[in-house]
Amino acid sequence: MTGAVDSDIRDDTGTARPEMVRAENVHKSFGHLDVLKGIDLVVGTGEVSVVIGPSGSGKSTFLRCVNHLEKINSGRIFVDGDLIGYRQHGDKLHELREKEVAAQRRSIGMVFQRFNLFPHMTALANVMEAPCRVKRQSKAQARERAVALLERVGLSDKVSNYPGQLSGGQQQRVAIARALAMEPKLMLFDEPTSALDPELVGEVLDVMKDLARDGMTMIVVTHEIGFAREVGDSLIFMDGGVVVESGAPREVLADPKHDRTKAFLAKVL
Ligand code: ADP
Ligand code: MG
Repeated sequence: MTGAVDSDIRDDTGTARPEMVRAENVHKSFGHLDVLKGIDLVVGTGEVSVVIGPSGSGKSTFLRCVNHLEKINSGRIFVDGDLIGYRQHGDKLHELREKEVAAQRRSIGMVFQRFNLFPHMTALANVMEAPCRVKRQSKAQARERAVALLERVGLSDKVSNYPGQLSGGQQQRVAIARALAMEPKLMLFDEPTSALDPELVGEVLDVMKDLARDGMTMIVVTHEIGFAREVGDSLIFMDGGVVVESGAPREVLADPKHDRTKAFLAKVL
C-alpha cells in the first residue's frame, strides 16, 4: 500500500518493504502561481503508483520535481533514501553540485507524452547514446544491451529504423528502452500514451505492464483507468496541487471518498 506518508509498506507476505520514493510537504510555485501545495506520498520499492487528476493539477510538475527538472520551494523528496537536490549536514541543507545532481538523475528514467527521440539517430543509436556518453560504456557493450532492450520492447526488427520510420507506439517503446538503458531504479511516466492513436495505446501499456511485472518501481501519470486497475498498487488522485485521495486502485475507483474524486471519475470512467 502506498499513498499517505505514514502508511506501512508491506508486500503480500506482510514483510515491510523499503521506500523508493517519499515526498514530504512538497511545494512548488512558478512566480505567484502555487502549483504544488504540500504533496505527501510514498511509493514502495517495486510498486506501481498511478497518478490521475484534472489537467493543470500539478501532475507533470510533481514528476519533474522528482527528476530535477524543477526545483521545489519547500518540502523534501527522497529517492531510495537520497534527498533529491540536497545534502543534509546537521540541520542545514546544502544544494548538490551539478555532478551530484547528474548522478541522482541517472538513476531515474523518465518517459514523456512526446517521445523526444533524437530524429537523426536510429532506434539502436537512440538507446545506446546515454550509456556511451554518460556511463562511458564501450560501444560493443552498449550495443549488446541496446539490442536486448529493443527486443524486450518488441522491436527487434526495427533497430535500424529512424524515428520518422516508426509509428508513435513504436517510438514510445524506443523511448522506454532508452530510459531503461541507464538501468534506473525508478521510472516516471508522464502520460506516455496520450499522444498516441487509440490502436497504438495497448502495445505501450503492454510494455509497461511487463516492466511492472519485473519489479520496476514506477510512477505513472495516465488517464488509462484500466491500467491503474490492473497494474497499479496504488492510485493517487491529485487536484489543485494536493493529493486529494489515494489508496488501492479498486477501492478508490469503486468507492471514492471525496467529491472531487467522484466528479473526476464520473468524467473519465
Ligand atoms: P498537469 O500535468 O496536472 O496537467 P502541470 O504540472 O503541467 O499540470 O501544470 C500545473 C500548473 O502549473 C498549470 O497551471 C501550468 O500552467 C503551470 N506550470 C507548469 N509549468 C510551468 C512553468 N514552467 N512556468 C509557469 N507555469 C507552469
Ligand atoms: Mg501533465
